[in-house]
Amino acid sequence: MDSSDFFEIPSDVRPEWPSRCIRCGREDPEGFYRFRSSHLDPRRCFNWLLNRARPHVNVPACPNCARVLSLRRWCERYIAWPLSFALCGFACIYAEQAGWLPQDRNARKFVRICIIFVCLLPMMIWIWFRPSHVQAEADKKICRFWFSNPSYARDFAELNKPFE
Ligand SMILES: [Zn+2]
Repeated sequence: MDSSDFFEIPSDVRPEWPSRCIRCGREDPEGFYRFRSSHLDPRRCFNWLLNRARPHVNVPACPNCARVLSLRRWCERYIAWPLSFALCGFACIYAEQAGWLPQDRNARKFVRICIIFVCLLPMMIWIWFRPSHVQAEADKKICRFWFSNPSYARDFAELNKPFE
């Protein structure tokens, strides 16, 4: 299993975690990094206000590392991504009003896609080079995990082998 692989276990099963901090690797950390998993089906993301049934994930982590991970997750979800999407909107409107968009309909569409791509690029680069230490997506049946650290992923896979 390498870092690009994911690992699935049934949603009603509590996973076994390696007994070290997910962020710094310290043995027997005293706390947990707790977060709510995302929806496996991205269409349901828009239903998040109605459906709060996504399972919580409790990953062993030192209290300080847990705070850092939670802060990062919060900043990405509630500041960085919304700002990136707002920037896309403003940039497209500005380009329209400044007369930068070509007359041809397909060319306009292409330029808009380029603007959106450029506005989202900083976040894509950030996520590519600094992926989350752990990600989880779930539906009623399965919970899918990703880990940025290959050795942590291997240990997690080993501990949860019966569900493979
Ligand atoms: Zn730690």
